[in-house]
Amino acid sequence: MPSPAAMKEPLNAFCVDLEEWFHVCGTPTDYSNPDSWNSAAAHVVKDTEVLMRILDDAGTKGTFLTVGWVAEKYPDLIRALADAGHEIGCHSYHHQLVYSLTPEEFEEDLLRALDVLRRISGQPVKTYRAPGFSMKRECFWAYPILRKHGIEIDVSIVPAARDHGGVQDITRDPFILHLEEGDMKCFPVSVMDIGWRTVPFSGGGYLRLFPQSLINAGFRSNHRAGRVGMAYIHPREINPHQPRLSLPALKSFKYYVNMATTEPKLCKLLETFRFSTVAETLTTVQYWPEYNYVNGEILAARAA
Ligand SMILES: [Zn+2]
Repeated sequence: MPSPAAMKEPLNAFCVDLEEWFHVCGTPTDYSNPDSWNSAAAHVVKDTEVLMRILDDAGTKGTFLTVGWVAEKYPDLIRALADAGHEIGCHSYHHQLVYSLTPEEFEEDLLRALDVLRRISGQPVKTYRAPGFSMKRECFWAYPILRKHGIEIDVSIVPAARDHGGVQDITRDPFILHLEEGDMKCFPVSVMDIGWRTVPFSGGGYLRLFPQSLINAGFRSNHRAGRVGMAYIHPREINPHQPRLSLPALKSFKYYVNMATTEPKLCKLLETFRFSTVAETLTTVQYWPEYNYVNGEILAARAA
């Protein structure tokens, strides 16, 4: 039972982007074509089981944003996650950047993923993350499609400049997006200010690259602002022995840096702060800025 002081610590969301080691976005690789995926070495089940054990040891539940192809291939893994009390979310079917698809292609991929994920997990599957965090202004058309198909929470926005996505000039707080199809809760990825730059710090390459003290400072700066935080990781990130993709130098650095120290770092993080699923974390949010979806744009609602 946590102490009363610990209970007052803000809750943070813990996300796993549940995909294979070769599900990289925006760079051609030997596995760019989904037809090649079945012949690739398979690591996702074992790596995810390691993550499940780490979460279990910490007494933490998380949200597993799952690629539909992975769920279809390994249904027992998805059932085990659901049985263990984790939230199953959607991370598309074929892991393509949203802005590389037409709205029709996006909807087809989404429906295929949701059908598989809902059928296998037995959960409603209401939380979505775009592959490569590829939600940016030019593809906000995806929001009405997501809401129409029962997605009520989006965790795709990076409120900073970024390679695949990134939305500058938007709130860092979870916000309500009003759409004709219904309301959506958008929970942006945690960022912090370092000098003049706004950067993510709590997931993927950032989590592996940054020292623990800087990551802790990032969570605390958000908590001081009354904001919940979010961490995210991919199963491959705790496996230093995964096969290596041939990637451009900078991308390769970011994709593989500090793989061997991720597991102890993650354990320390789970010890230091309180984490739960995205859905549960959002129940603790008191202040919700509001935005309206108007003709493909997201505009801050003016106070009445
Ligand atoms: Zn992904």
